[in-house]
Amino acid sequence: MEDSETMTCPYCDDKSRECKHVLALFDSNFGDVYGGYLEKDNTAINELEKALSDLLNQGMNVKLGDDPLSNIWEDAKADYSVVEVNGEKIMETYVGLTTYMQYIEEFGLEYDAEVFVLEEIDEMPGMSSQTKICYAKDPKYTLDQINKEIIDSIRIAYSNKKKKK
Ligand SMILES: [Zn+2]
Repeated sequence: MEDSETMTCPYCDDKSRECKHVLALFDSNFGDVYGGYLEKDNTAINELEKALSDLLNQGMNVKLGDDPLSNIWEDAKADYSVVEVNGEKIMETYVGLTTYMQYIEEFGLEYDAEVFVLEEIDEMPGMSSQTKICYAKDPKYTLDQINKEIIDSIRIAYSNKKKKK
């Protein structure tokens, strides 16, 4: 792990933490995103929320293993709701940035994204927090691929469950 003073972008050697490769500057415990692509553009999150709502609307109620994917899915299930606006049904759910970034930390390397720890802050016992930075060759590409993998994984888990019956 590199020291935060010398942390440079693996793609362009930038030190400002503001180059186009910063996917997110975030706090890993509280899910706050302070900078980078994800702070400016939440299209990827909105698209994932919409895709997860569609799966839930189709009744894909499958239980997944205990990992970052399962956390995203369980949160989406818990927050899923259908509201009716002017006679039109609108499905909604929520994707938390904490679990989303955990997923990227675990699987991002497959899609040219890597997470580094910048600093660790111990505010009080049991309340430590880590500031991390995620660099990606092309943040939009990484997020699109990650979203696709999340949706595909849930679909596959659901169809496997149906085959067993
Ligand atoms: Zn860069």
